[in-house]
Parts: sequence; structure tokens; C-alpha cells
Amino acid sequence: MENKKELRTWLDDLQLDHPLVIAGPCSAETEEQVLKIAHELKDTDVSYFRAGIWKPRTRPGMFEGVGALGLKWLQRVKAETGMKTATEVANAAHVKLALEHDVDLLWIGARSTVSPFIVQEIADALEGTDKIVLIKNPVNPDLALWLGAVERLATANIKKLGVIHRGFSTYEKTKYRNNPEWQLAIELQSKFPDLPIINDPSHITGKRDMIFDVSQKALDLNFDGLMIETHFDPENAWSDAAQQVTPSVLVQIMKDLKIRKETDQEAEYNNALNNLRANIDVIDHQIIELLGKRMNVVDGIGTLKRQKNVSILQSKRWNEILGAMVLEGQDHGLSEEFILKMFKAIHQESINHQEKIIKK
Ligand code: PEP
Ligand code: MN
Repeated sequence: MENKKELRTWLDDLQLDHPLVIAGPCSAETEEQVLKIAHELKDTDVSYFRAGIWKPRTRPGMFEGVGALGLKWLQRVKAETGMKTATEVANAAHVKLALEHDVDLLWIGARSTVSPFIVQEIADALEGTDKIVLIKNPVNPDLALWLGAVERLATANIKKLGVIHRGFSTYEKTKYRNNPEWQLAIELQSKFPDLPIINDPSHITGKRDMIFDVSQKALDLNFDGLMIETHFDPENAWSDAAQQVTPSVLVQIMKDLKIRKETDQEAEYNNALNNLRANIDVIDHQIIELLGKRMNVVDGIGTLKRQKNVSILQSKRWNEILGAMVLEGQDHGLSEEFILKMFKAIHQESINHQEKIIKK
């Protein structure tokens, strides 16, 4: 797919002076619920009202959505509030029904993006559409799958494309419901700088009190918009209760976010600088996380050495590591002096860790 400025046209045409906001409940539950939320979101920054009609649940036996009936409710939302509407589609039948009911924005969910078969089926059903189509990242941290889905839809001649970053599933528990892995979103942005990218802090955090920070980070990283699950009674929502916010909280979040606009040269400079700094923050965070992981392994070795009663310092092994790292550093433009200093510091910290274990 060529990287063309036209990728942004649909977003530029909205002429917003703030990030694009898509909000509404995780699931459409009843007609009253949908309309009540929609009326509370009318006259806010929200341009697109979202509601899941078909809900892909990880385990069966939970609320799986109201189905096509909910599309009629979205039509009422549009007629009564003037907001445009958005829903998730997961197969060709959904696409057909959503188009028949004039839904304005369709998104492909994380559990669909993982399957090239289903993405192709959706792309074929949408061929040539003038609706907006957004592709959520796949549940697993695989950039190629995400890119592949973008390419399949672009090839189906869908012009109004974009992506949604909703975080990635991990085996290890983290403070997030879905780990953001910001570096993947950054990499996608650098491959397609003009493809609009929306952040979904609701599914990343899984918790409403973390939504603001993730939203701010996304804006600092130059994201174009936010999708935030909103419900008048979040606690009693039929799905994703812990992560939904009320319409008034959403309005407050939008007020508090620092939004950088590219107006003049100075602003453009600041914008570029902030963006690069946000990138550095993401990478620094990864460095610390990796060093922490390294020390966990070192501790494991310390325990083994204690059992076997062998000495901590194994200089042959250490010289091998240093030699290999100096060579690898060269490939990445890192000087020998720097590599030696850095690894000596890491080595010292490892020795300190192991000494503690052995003295125990
Ligand atoms: C949703 O948006 O409600 C949803 C099911 O999201 P995801 O595909 O990101 O899990
Ligand atoms: Mn949800």
C-alpha cells in the first residue's frame, strides 16, 4: 500500500479542533440505555457514537450482544442527536446489515484482526464502500497481522481507513488489561504516517481510573483520536463494567487533556519534540523492564550457584559476553567504550544481586 496523504482526508474533512472522539457503551443493551447515553453525549466533543451490537466474548455463555435489533437504535441515535454512529463488524453478514442500516463507521475487532480469512471476508463485503473502516490491533503483539489487515482493506478499495490501538494480550499479568506495547503503535505510525490512529484506553487499561493517563500518553505520541467506552451506569453495564466512564467523566477527561495543535512553526517544533520525547520515554521504560527481567534470571543463577557452592565470578563466561556485545553494538552504531561501560555496570549489579542470594 502506498503511503498517501489521502489516507487522512476523511479525518481532515471533519475539521475538528480537537482529537476525534468515539464514545458510547461497550454494548448496546436496551433501546432506552442507548438513547439515554447518546443524549448525554450530544453537544460534547464526541463525533461518533459507538455501541457493540455483536459482542465477541472470549468465553461462551456471557452476554453476546442484542444483534441486528440494535442497529435500529443506532438509527434513532443519529436522527435524534446528529451524532454519527459506529459499531463492530465481525463477518460478511454483519457488514451487510450495518451498511443497510447506514452505520457511518465500522470497526474490525481485535479478535477478528488475528484471522486473515475473516479480515478478507470483511474486506470483500466492504469493497469500495465510502464508510469509515477502522482496524483494531490483533490481540497478540504481531505487527504484521495488523499491517496485513490494513493492506487487505486498502486493496478492497476502501478509502476511509484508520487503525485503533487497543493493546495486546500477555501471558504475564500487568497493570493493564491489554499491554499497550506502544512501540508497536509507533512502528505502525512510522510505516504509515498518514494513516489515522485512534487510541482505545478503555480496552488497554480495563480500569476507568487509568484512562486519563493512557489518553494523554496517546496524544503526546501524536494519536489522532480516542475511543472511550461510556455508560450512564458503568457499574451495572452488561459488559466491560470496570472500564466504562460516565458521560460527565468523559467530558472532564476531554477538558483536562493537553491537546497540542499544529498551528504555527513554533507549535510544530514543540509538537515534533514532544513526540520524540514520548518515544524516548517508551524506550526507556522498555530498557528498565528488560534490565529487571535480566536480574530475575541472574537471581536464578545465584540460587543454582549457592546450591552447588560455586563462585559468583566466572570470568571466562563474562569475557565471552563482553566480546559478543561489543560486536553487536557496532551493528547498532554504539561505541566499544559505551558498551564496555554499560555492561560493566550491569555486571556489577548482577554480582551484587548474587552476593545477596549467596549470603542468605
Ligand atoms: C469493544 O470495542 O467493545 C471490543 C470488543 O473491543 P476489542 O475488539 O478491542 O476487544
Ligand atoms: Mn468493550
